[in-house]
Amino acid sequence: MGPGASGGAPGPAASGRVAGRYVAEVPAATRYRCTSCGNLTRFDVTTTTRVRAFHHYTVGGELSVEDSEVLDERVDEVLCRWCGSGGSVERVIPDAG
Ligand SMILES: [Zn+2]
Repeated sequence: MGPGASGGAPGPAASGRVAGRYVAEVPAATRYRCTSCGNLTRFDVTTTTRVRAFHHYTVGGELSVEDSEVLDERVDEVLCRWCGSGGSVERVIPDAG
């Protein structure tokens, strides 16, 4: 059996490097509740995040973001998606256990 033999097996998987990407670290524990209409699931949340990241460029100018750290994140505004109210939305503090 030599190279080029017929077979359905694919060649070595393309092990390309993973492109640098930015993943926002939104705290999943934060929940909201609209006291006006009772909405618990749909909100428009505006946040401001400061991130420091290590931008690693190749000599060719290709960018790879290899490390990122969230320095600061705050919620600017939360609007209820159902009734559009912003003043009636309150943050639900989960039990810390
Ligand atoms: Zn609402």
